Amino acid sequence: MKEAEILQQIKARGFKITPQRRAIIAALLVPDKPPTAKDVLEIVRNKYPDVGLDTVYRNLNLLADIGCVIQINLKNSEKSRFEILKNHHHHLICLGCGEAVCLEKCMLEKHTGVLKDKGYQIVGHAFEIYGYCPSCRGEAG
Ligand SMILES: [Zn+2]
Ligand SMILES: [Zn+2]
Ligand SMILES: [Zn+2]
Repeated sequence: MKEAEILQQIKARGFKITPQRRAIIAALLVPDKPPTAKDVLEIVRNKYPDVGLDTVYRNLNLLADIGCVIQINLKNSEKSRFEILKNHHHHLICLGCGEAVCLEKCMLEKHTGVLKDKGYQIVGHAFEIYGYCPSCRGEAG
């Protein structure tokens, strides 16, 4: 999603677009890897030194609720990362440092057909793979 689309969604849902909110969205669009709330805070604080982590979390949760951002690393909320919604994909997550690697392809889409007989209309799914990245593997021995 582009910044303009996100701002439109926020307005459409009846929320205000504050300068801080804009800065948080802009911060999410910067890194090449999905940032944590603390990463976002660091970027936002360059411009708005008064913004606190609570504000960042509140805004990230709002963006997730309205479907503009996905939360990554559901297993460890402290190390959760937030990513602007793009094409559907999944993540490989390091249990050591919390790094999240985007996986290009969805391995589940072709399998959701087996759920048809449960009577559900499937609208989406979440799937994360946990492990240790090369540098964390080194530390563990
Ligand atoms: Zn790691
Ligand atoms: Zn991703
Ligand atoms: Zn998928």
